[in-house]
This record gives sequence, C-alpha cells and structure tokens, in this order.
Amino acid sequence: MAIYDVKSNKAEEFINDGEIRETLAYAEANKHNEALIDQILEKARPHKTATGYHCAGLSHREASVLLACDIPEKIEKIYQIAEEIKQAFYGNRIVIFAPLYLSNYCVNGCVYCPYHMKNKHIPRKKLTQEEVRAEVIALQDMGHKRLAIEAGEDPVNNPIEYILDCIKTIYSVHHKNGDIRRVNVNIAATTVENYRKLKEAGIGTYILFQETYHKESYLKLHPTGPKHDYDYHTEAMDRAMEGGIDDVGLGVLFGLELYKYEFAGLLMHAEHLEAVHGVGPHTISVPRVKHADDIDPDAFDNGISDEIFAKLTACIRLAVPYTGMIISTRESEAVRSQLLRLGISQVSGGSRTSVGGYTEKERPHDTEQFDVSDQRTLDEVVRWLMENGHIPSFCTACYREGRTGDRFMALCKSGQIVNCCHPNALMTLKEYLEDYASPETRKVGMEVIEREIPKITNPKVRQIAVEHLHDMEGGKRDFRF
Ligand code: SF4
Ligand code: SF4
Repeated sequence: MAIYDVKSNKAEEFINDGEIRETLAYAEANKHNEALIDQILEKARPHKTATGYHCAGLSHREASVLLACDIPEKIEKIYQIAEEIKQAFYGNRIVIFAPLYLSNYCVNGCVYCPYHMKNKHIPRKKLTQEEVRAEVIALQDMGHKRLAIEAGEDPVNNPIEYILDCIKTIYSVHHKNGDIRRVNVNIAATTVENYRKLKEAGIGTYILFQETYHKESYLKLHPTGPKHDYDYHTEAMDRAMEGGIDDVGLGVLFGLELYKYEFAGLLMHAEHLEAVHGVGPHTISVPRVKHADDIDPDAFDNGISDEIFAKLTACIRLAVPYTGMIISTRESEAVRSQLLRLGISQVSGGSRTSVGGYTEKERPHDTEQFDVSDQRTLDEVVRWLMENGHIPSFCTACYREGRTGDRFMALCKSGQIVNCCHPNALMTLKEYLEDYASPETRKVGMEVIEREIPKITNPKVRQIAVEHLHDMEGGKRDFRF
C-alpha cells in the first residue's frame, strides 16, 4: 500500500488515498470540537505586519475540519475570515479574462464533457490561424487583455505545434488599441519538452484541472484515451514546473466525486507543489458540472448546492490565501456575486465556450463545451462589478515584469503586491473605459477611479499613477507597475 509522502514524485504517494480517508475521518470526528475549530480559525486569520498582512494558511487536515463543521456560528466565522483575507490581499479588485476555444477535436472519453470522442453528432471544429486572428480581434474589441486558451487532446489535429502557432498569432494581433497581453493555456497533460516549448512561447499560467482526485472514479470517468492515465495526469504539474513553467493552475470539477474528498486532494496537491518546487499553485478554479450537449449534470450524483459551494470556496480561501481563485461563466450572476466576496479574485466575462464563438453574432450552441449561465456582455459584467463595489482589472503586469513563481509569491507574502495590483487595476480599467466601455459604464468607472486614487497608499506610486491616468486621455496605453 502506498504511503503518504508530500515530496514524492509519485501521484499515489502525494495524493494518497489513505491519507485523504484519514483526513476525512479526522474532520468528521472533530467537526464539533469547538476548541480545535477556534484554534484553526485563529491560525487562518490575517495578521498585520510592518509591510501589510500575513496569513499562515491551513493544512489539508485543518481545512477539512472547517469544511466538515456544521455549527452555524463557526460557519459565519469562516465566511468572515475569508472576506478578511480577500480584502487583505486582493482588496476589491477582480481580474477579468476570457476563454478562447481553439479546437474541440478530442481523443478522450471524459463522460462529463460533450467533446468526448464518442459524441458523433457535434460538429468538430479547429480554428485556422486566420480564424484565431478574427477571434482575437473580436475579443480585443470587447476589451479583453487576458485569455485562457482551451483545446481538446488530439495529437493529430491539435499537436503542440498547432497550440504554439495559435499563441504566436494571438500575441501578434494588435487591433486598434487592442492587445492580448497574457495567454494562459489549458491543454492536456503533456511532456516536459512540450511544457518547455510553452514556456518559451511566453505563456502565463498553465492550467490543468484534475477533474477528480479519486483514482477509482477518475478511471471510470475517463474510460478511454490518454487521459485515462491517472498518474500521468496527476503528475503533469510537476513536469510543467520541470519544464520551467512557474505558474500553474489547479482545479477540480465539483460534482464528479464527494466534495470533501476532492477538497482534501486539492489542498494536498497544493502542498505537494509547495514542498517540491517551493511555490504553490498560482490559481485554483472551482467549476461545477454543468449541462452541455449530451451531458446531464443530474447523471452525476455528487452535485453540490450553492450553499456548500460557498463554504467550500471560503475554506479554500483560508487554506491557500496567496493562491488566486477563479470562477467562470458556468455560474450564475447570483452565485458569482456571493463568491466574489468570499475569495474569488478572477472571473471570466462575456465568454463564449464554443469554437469560433466570438465572431458569431448570436451565441452559437453547437460546439459549446458547457452552457453559460452568465450570458451578460463584458460591458455589463464590468458595470455590474463596479456597482457592487469591485474594481474590474485587466492587469497582466506580473508575468510581463518577470514576477512569476517564487518571485511573485514572495511579493504576495510580504503584502507588497498590493502596491502593484491596485494602481494597475485603475490604469487598466481606465484603458477599458477609454476604448471600449458604453457611456453608462464609462461614467460609473470614472467615478470608481476618482474614488480609488486617494487609496493608493504609497505617495510616489500614487503620483505616477495619476500622471499615467492623465496620459491615457492623450492616447497613451499599457502603463504598469
Ligand atoms: S474534458 Fe478535455 S480531454 Fe475530456 S473530452 Fe473534454 S476536451 Fe477532451
Ligand atoms: S499586479 Fe500582478 S498580481 Fe496584481 S493583478 Fe496585476 S498581474 Fe495580478
């Protein structure tokens, strides 16, 4: 039987089934242990330091106790601390991105995704470089600066060379004042050599969802294709980091397995990356199984309610305070609204989840990977965020300034990253307002910027930001700290 070892390079040892089961038993046994719960909550709370705030984070065992706890006052405390952490490190800023689907050819058999190989009735489509260019122009005309590219796994139709060509094309398009400044990549697990190529192509984060950490379920949910290999999939982030990619994004598709199991596995994965590579995940995504073409979410009996989803998000926030959290348009406006307060730091907006969807006038459904619950335009999402007290940010500065991996984490942990994030949010928002916003959104946005400028704490940074904001009115773009 495999033994738990956080530093092992073997999937079954760092995501150890025995350790997860013991964790769940420990959490269950202690879910009413108020003294222990108070102690864990105290550990999770942000503490003021000379330069900002510090958070200790939580181990997978500690966080699992909180997740299991059903005492209403303690759950309220979890929410309260999640909000405090969110405020301490991310303020009211929300980074915006959009997915770009390149190809839905796929040789895998994932039972929850309509792109699975056996689905013969959906049209298969792969963008040509000309089509990629057209999609990017459409995305730039909406105001996007940060993309996550998505493609099925298909060595013949979507080889790494195709992905690299697409990245090159995306970075090369500059339509009007448009610019895609960060391309995150969500493609299948691959080799160290291919990760090295992605790194050289200048990608931001490499994102790969684990889907489920439960090996037995994983094998059933991925009955055919290369993705069936649980170990190869689970060890992908180690290969990515070996290939030089500093920023990796984890995720679980909630609904496939028991959420408490997934939660412990997810945190163990984060602990493993930190222990072996010295830096934890850059982001964690929290998608839930949704309806799409031949996929019925009710067929998966581990679906979680909005209430549990909120608690889960808050507990992740407490456990890994320095990891960005992402939510997509899979979720409705109401759900997104609550989760933003509890720790989400990135959202997608104006998304089309089909191949070639941005150049279509009407939202196409034939090649959608999942149904989009939040169908508002980017302008509507931006305005909604501001009307709810958030600052939409189109910032991509860190990776372009070489602040990745441990450099980024060091800045985060010292609490100094806010000196970059806050003015960058205001400057990129101003770019958006100048170039793409509706008059109504622009009006709201200008008020937000006026209100926020005095809150830039460093006087020198504030002065430079004010100058840059002014220069933008004369047509200058792309300022960053
Ligand atoms: S989840 Fe990814 S690998 Fe699986 S069928 Fe869909 S596109 Fe293919
Ligand atoms: S400054 Fe860095 S961490 Fe902050 S929003 Fe920009 S890219 Fe993200």
